[in-house]
Amino acid sequence: MRALREVLRDWEAVIGLEIHTELTSLETKMFCGCRISHDDEPNTNVCPVCLGLPGALPVPNEKAIEYIVMAGLATNCDVMKRSMFYRKHYFYPDMAKNFQTTQGPVAFVMHGHLDLEVSGEGADERPDGTITKAADGSYVLPVKILRIHMEEDAAKMVHVGGAEGRIGGARESLIDYNRCGTPLIELVTEPDLRTPEEARLFMEKLRQVFLALGISDCSLERGSMRCDGNVSLRRRGSSEMGTKTEMKNINSFKALHDALAYEICRQAEVLEGGGRVLQETRHWEPSRRKTVVMRVKERNDDYRFFPDPDLMPFDLSDEFVERCRRRLPELPDARRDRYVATWGLRCREAELLAADPQAASLFEDVMGVAEPAEAQVVANVMVNLVPSYGSLGVGQIAGIARLLAADDITFVQAREVLDALDGTDDDPEEVVEALGMRQSADSLSLVVDEVLGRCEDQVRQYRSGNRKVVGYLVGQCMKASAGAGNPKLFNQLLLERLEG
Ligand SMILES: [Zn+2]
Repeated sequence: MRALREVLRDWEAVIGLEIHTELTSLETKMFCGCRISHDDEPNTNVCPVCLGLPGALPVPNEKAIEYIVMAGLATNCDVMKRSMFYRKHYFYPDMAKNFQTTQGPVAFVMHGHLDLEVSGEGADERPDGTITKAADGSYVLPVKILRIHMEEDAAKMVHVGGAEGRIGGARESLIDYNRCGTPLIELVTEPDLRTPEEARLFMEKLRQVFLALGISDCSLERGSMRCDGNVSLRRRGSSEMGTKTEMKNINSFKALHDALAYEICRQAEVLEGGGRVLQETRHWEPSRRKTVVMRVKERNDDYRFFPDPDLMPFDLSDEFVERCRRRLPELPDARRDRYVATWGLRCREAELLAADPQAASLFEDVMGVAEPAEAQVVANVMVNLVPSYGSLGVGQIAGIARLLAADDITFVQAREVLDALDGTDDDPEEVVEALGMRQSADSLSLVVDEVLGRCEDQVRQYRSGNRKVVGYLVGQCMKASAGAGNPKLFNQLLLERLEG
């Protein structure tokens, strides 16, 4: 198969995503009062409603609707005045009612968009000219969201002692209904994405937004967030849609990228060989690094879709929507912009901090005690050093940043100080003293003298006009001090000697 980059020169990939997110912050299920918990004994959090016993009536979870409206508002969706639940019928033991309660053509929230900042690798200009790149190759891509709807999760099945995953081949199949009836929100994008990289960025950004909202733990590992990706190819310049394939239940950012990249190259090979792409559902196998067919879709499944007669249509009041709007926290983009405006942070660090609610809150606490002028150093420490340590206090992080900002220690030394500080409530200043680290001009001078003494050639070169040689000398000083010296101070001292 040809490489992705080459394929994308001839073909345009049209990618859409469906992202399922479990509302893990809820305590109870969508239509009954059963507790949501994945750690309990199987079939202990069940009742007549989620077991689908005759005569049981569903009662919608108001909190769940509040969460989905918040998700919609945060992604620029319209809140629909009236929406309803439908029954989607299928016969499989994981849904005892024999239908899934889900939303129909009109969901609670629809027609939104999420803006992606894309840069570098995988960046792609749109042929219709709607997207143009900035000088540095970056661009903003508004990805349209068709809808976010609500549906209920099915039970968990375990097949024992037989062919893997095949109920027919298994000796026994066990069912745990604890998960049955847990609310999921499913976000469906328009097919606005053109590269695997854009798809990955979209999912990452959506995860950051949902984390900021606090509606889910968005754990890809535990499956509380998962993704279906569909992709088709068309010749560059064409506006026709090709036949798409769908990849189900992708559970990591890397798998999403790799599965789409593989599928794009596979489809290109089929089409270039004169074949046609079949509309099918495929499964990404990370260990084999390929997608394999799950089933070929020959017809539209007949789910006997109809409005659920047990659930009244929802007319969300302006007051309810307003209440949801007031509950919206500051979202990652707004927070990043505030960090840049307030503290002059570089975009990269501002974005990384703003994307993670816990890191953001710690950063703001540290800035409560640190000097505003040290904000960038604090951000560097937060992004590059703090994540490797278990428990560092606000004062300790501020202290490290102060020492770095004053050039009293280097980044390499900062790691050593943090090693000593981690899990204690010691003061960074005292640790630096105890370790004898504070860089005095005197101790660095000795290193500089030693280096200048043995680099006579370079000294001559400098004096005859080759100013660049200072870089080499700084490198020698860093080496002589085993990386512990401060390059800025070395540079300064070297210039004093060489010019003097
Ligand atoms: Zn229940």
